[in-house]
Amino acid sequence: MPAIEGRCLCGSISYTSTDEPILVGICHCTDCRRQSGTAFSINVGVPAGGLTITGTPKVYETMGTDRGEPARRHFCGDCGSPIISVLADADDIAFVKGGTLDDPSWIEPELELWEESRLPWVDRIESEERGYFSRGLNTD
Ligand SMILES: [Zn+2]
Ligand SMILES: [Zn+2]
Repeated sequence: MPAIEGRCLCGSISYTSTDEPILVGICHCTDCRRQSGTAFSINVGVPAGGLTITGTPKVYETMGTDRGEPARRHFCGDCGSPIISVLADADDIAFVKGGTLDDPSWIEPELELWEESRLPWVDRIESEERGYFSRGLNTD
């Protein structure tokens, strides 16, 4: 596995993980869309305990529509790049924003979330073997 290392656009915030990803998912939810400024986000779930963040991200909380629990969205206060999201009710996993990896070429999304808000022009990206969820993951 190539290293999980990455940074924000300006480099004030960087991170490294000692662990392999638990899951890689695409999220089509409207909050991820708005935060990323594009059609969906690529979330690389890694164990939070093995993740080292250098720099001090700002944190903005959104409320999960289904879960009723906050998602803490860590981003760079200087350049605005989203870096990591942590769900308050499943905070042992950190979801790294895949586009911030130094080498994102090897990650392969294995599931897609919030398909019901997928933009109509975004094709399902891979085969039907991938899992699709019309809304979010159930973290119970
Ligand atoms: Zn930055
Ligand atoms: Zn989302």
